[in-house]
Amino acid sequence: MELLAALEQQLHTLDTAGLRRRRRIADTACHAHMRVDGREIIGFASNDYLGLAAHPRLVEALAEGAARYGAGSGGSHLLGGHSRAHAQAEEDLAAFSGGFSSAPRALFFSTGYMANLAVISALADRDATIFSDALNHASLIDGARLSRATVQVYPHLDLHSLEQQLNACTSATKLIVSDGVFSMDGDLAPIAALVALAERHHAWLVIDDAHGFGVLGQGRGIVQQAAVRSSNLIYIGTLGKAAGVAGAFAIAHETLIEWLVQRARPYIFTTAAPPAVAYAVSASLALIASAEGDTRRQRLALSIARVREILKRTPWQAIDSHTAIQPLVIGGNQATLALAHAIDAQGLWVPAIRPPTVPLGSSRLRISLSAAHTDADLERLDAALHSVSELAA
Ligand SMILES: *Cc1c(COP(=O)(O)O)cnc(C)c1O
Repeated sequence: MELLAALEQQLHTLDTAGLRRRRRIADTACHAHMRVDGREIIGFASNDYLGLAAHPRLVEALAEGAARYGAGSGGSHLLGGHSRAHAQAEEDLAAFSGGFSSAPRALFFSTGYMANLAVISALADRDATIFSDALNHASLIDGARLSRATVQVYPHLDLHSLEQQLNACTSATKLIVSDGVFSMDGDLAPIAALVALAERHHAWLVIDDAHGFGVLGQGRGIVQQAAVRSSNLIYIGTLGKAAGVAGAFAIAHETLIEWLVQRARPYIFTTAAPPAVAYAVSASLALIASAEGDTRRQRLALSIARVREILKRTPWQAIDSHTAIQPLVIGGNQATLALAHAIDAQGLWVPAIRPPTVPLGSSRLRISLSAAHTDADLERLDAALHSVSELAA
């Protein structure tokens, strides 16, 4: 009982600090309008940026994939679990987003978290140095820890500091890692400048584009949008956000991908995702690349512009983001939670993001937009923010 009592005590500490998280239960598919915890709500919490998570064509592809390949893969990729559906998805991904490499190849993973662990730990060892943006996603941080390399954190987007750190570094292996679109701020990494730095310093550059793939660069992602070419680049995209399915991928020069297949432990020692998931990913790529994908991206762009205006009129600090991630920085945990609750009472789900996801004192409401949001949904958001700002005044 002593062990449990110690945990109870720590959970209580989370409560009093406004840091206890709670899972809500969705009774319907992920969409702008859903039933959550038994109530109809308008959701501004998901990463389903193109509104594809419940698209009939993807639901159908998942069923067709399961009919062809069964429910489970049955094994790891190197021991029987690698199906034709996985191989096809990898070919489709490399053809779609691999234009930055002279010989692109893609590797499919079950999750983005594992893709980041795999790539970083396979490229960096104890003798390497990893240069990491201060606001990088937890999975990049954990990948660096797994590698046991020396980690140097540079201030967010501060390429001058990064270059100074690179100049002073004597490691033979150097790895620069950065989010493409930063997940809690919605701002963008300067891809062309990072590529130039990486090449000048003979460093690998890992870009985690979890929030850009499917949206930026006609859906091809932030690296394609930047129109750079480099064999130093490893592009990581996830498939559970804009693509509406699940999984992730890395694209790089074929030699690097072959190294991952041989050496990346988070790739090798896990069961392959169900082939049906890979089958649905190929269907999602076709949608993302189609005219319907363009229409959905245009709709999303209009919503982003509208919400930027809405946020400017609140008493809080909006972060200058042109992506679907629109944060409103409140500051304290309790104040952020109180606002999220007041907004929730009006039938809108806008999550309160708190440490350790964001730095202490920068707790925020994070509004995530989707192509599925209508003008009426955005007007409801405007009205809700307006009424809670009167509460705060
Ligand atoms: C969501 C996310 C991941 C993890 O991807 P999953 O497929 O959800 O495991 C990695 N990096 C960033 C920046 C993310 O936002």
